[in-house]
Amino acid sequence: MSATTAPTSSSAATARAVLDAAFPKGLGAFLDGRTVPGSGEGITLTAAATGEPFATYADPGTEGADAILESSVAGARTWGEMNGFERAAILRNVSRTVEAHAEELAILESATTGKPIRDARVEAAKVAEMFGYYAGWADKLTGQTIPVPGPWHTYTERVPWGVVVAITPWNAPLFTAGWNSAAPLAAGNAVIIKPSEFTPASSVRLAQLAHEAGLPAGVFNVATGLGQTVGAALTSDRRVGKVSFIGSVPTGRRVAVAAAQAGIPALLELGGKSANIVFADADLERAADGAIAAIFSGAGQSCVAGSRLLVERSVHARFVELVAQKAARLRVGDPLSADTEVGPIITAQQFATVTSLIEAGMNDGGRRVTGGTLPDALAGSSLAGGHWVMPTLLDGVTPQNRLETTEVFGPVVGADAFDTEAEAIARANNTNFGLAGAVWTSDVSRAHHVARQVKAGTFWINSYKTIHVAVPFGGFGDSGHGRSSGPGVLDEYTQTKAVWVPTRAAGAPFPSLSY
Ligand code: NAD
Repeated sequence: MSATTAPTSSSAATARAVLDAAFPKGLGAFLDGRTVPGSGEGITLTAAATGEPFATYADPGTEGADAILESSVAGARTWGEMNGFERAAILRNVSRTVEAHAEELAILESATTGKPIRDARVEAAKVAEMFGYYAGWADKLTGQTIPVPGPWHTYTERVPWGVVVAITPWNAPLFTAGWNSAAPLAAGNAVIIKPSEFTPASSVRLAQLAHEAGLPAGVFNVATGLGQTVGAALTSDRRVGKVSFIGSVPTGRRVAVAAAQAGIPALLELGGKSANIVFADADLERAADGAIAAIFSGAGQSCVAGSRLLVERSVHARFVELVAQKAARLRVGDPLSADTEVGPIITAQQFATVTSLIEAGMNDGGRRVTGGTLPDALAGSSLAGGHWVMPTLLDGVTPQNRLETTEVFGPVVGADAFDTEAEAIARANNTNFGLAGAVWTSDVSRAHHVARQVKAGTFWINSYKTIHVAVPFGGFGDSGHGRSSGPGVLDEYTQTKAVWVPTRAAGAPFPSLSY
């Protein structure tokens, strides 16, 4: 039976209070340095931990999207005309301001999304780090001089796209808002964040803080609202230079097609079905902790979740039991309690998806070793109306099981045994996704061999989950394309311009005008 953390306060009341403090005039889009209420369809925000509504706001609609775009086009002009040293100084100040407000941002994130406060604190600190990291690049974007035959001086320059639209998901709204704005801003673009309609608050607060830290009006706007209205309008408008998308595969494809039809390139970070491979020679205690962190942090609502556990047969039964015991000890409950390790599922709809996939996994032959829904200890408390799925482990999840290839996006791991290294690699690759994976072994040569063979954009050896803004992150296959961190991402957010100038001696002929 999992431990639970009792409600410290009503999540909905806290969410209401933090929203009122951050947005005294109500939640809305952020443009031109102020929060503007929408006039379209009303959207109700619900506390994941209690199921209670705590706020409503209005969709800006296509008219609102137009106003945001106008503001961003002007913002891109102002920001693009500033030099890299000026941009770097402001972005460093954004980093410091986010750091100074990290606790406030963490509470806002936890109260409005149901993410455990301990995770929200880590993510708020990482957002400050992202702005600091890319501030360091803003004044170091250089072109090249390129030798060519003939009397030429030929060089390249990095040119920002102008307006970058970043569509983000609900599982890590603050983190992804920082992840997909710090780099394009450093490269000289204006950014519009389109957060998930379920979790807009922390993105708007981040934009307010960035504006207070010195980002000129229009440089960092937030288009709160629905995907099919404001999201669709922003990703198919020729005033936009580039789109980045973090979310599910079907929506990502829809966005990429709409953007392509308007001639806009799109960067996609999509879902995953990552495998955690455990060999018998691994440090099993640490590997079990890794397996727990891989799938149950964020209640499995993580793109890199290690949702498949492949264990060498000789230790399979013992290892599965060890993970199940650790899973059952995780503290599930009030996201605002500092002790909570696993929070609720974000929405009733996602809860239905997760529970129906657990059912499917069992119908396909998986055996539930641990798991369940509302824990007894929460029944009758203010958290009883929330969307709870206990850390769930199904064993005997064979290649035919729907859990082998379907992303659950919940705290559900499917385990199975393997006999050979080749079989483990084949199983890890038995998915169209390719976001992440891990291997646990004390054999260093095998570890690197497996790392090379598994198709995934990120791979850990004897570890899981760590990512850092300085390191490229992105997917293979259905998990997307392009990278959204590391120095290389500055290439994603700039275009290259080549400039040719003839350098001839006085009186000498100009070079040929043909190629
Ligand atoms: P989603 O695809 O439902 O929504 C993502 C965003 O797209 C939201 O802001 C939504 O409003 C917007 N949207 C919806 N329709 C749109 C349209 N027609 N035009 C423009 N925008 C539109 O994803 P989600 O449910 O919010 O997030 C969960 C998914 O995100 C999972 O599949 C997860 O794996 C993935 N994810 C991936 C990463 C990564 O880095 N690879 C990170 C986090 C989450």
